[in-house]
Amino acid sequence: MDISYLVFLVIVVTLIVISAFLIIIRKLVKGNEIEILNESQINWEETKCPRCHVPMESGYSMAGRGVIWRERSAKKPGTFSTIASVLENTMSINMPPALNISWRCKSCKLIVLDNSKMVKVKNA
Ligand SMILES: [Zn+2]
Repeated sequence: MDISYLVFLVIVVTLIVISAFLIIIRKLVKGNEIEILNESQINWEETKCPRCHVPMESGYSMAGRGVIWRERSAKKPGTFSTIASVLENTMSINMPPALNISWRCKSCKLIVLDNSKMVKVKNA
């Protein structure tokens, strides 16, 4: 087999894999609900820590590749649980990225993350 044909084949397969990956990411984030808000428009409802019941500190989280969550009875997330199984509204490919409203308890090291939507906050 001609080596240049082999190189061509590797390039074509690589492009197909990259395209499929980009299509999957695009489909996943297309369903994201993103609101562009001023800080004052966000409903920072008081949220108490489920462990110590003290009001939590409010803020923003960036989940990066998205949050993968499964019920205890389901198969646990693993190495191959990737972008296809992220929770809705937790993965952003925007620049700058969309964020999740969240609350944290510093002492218990717990975070409550709202994935009903993502937000982009306008600078005042
Ligand atoms: Zn706590």
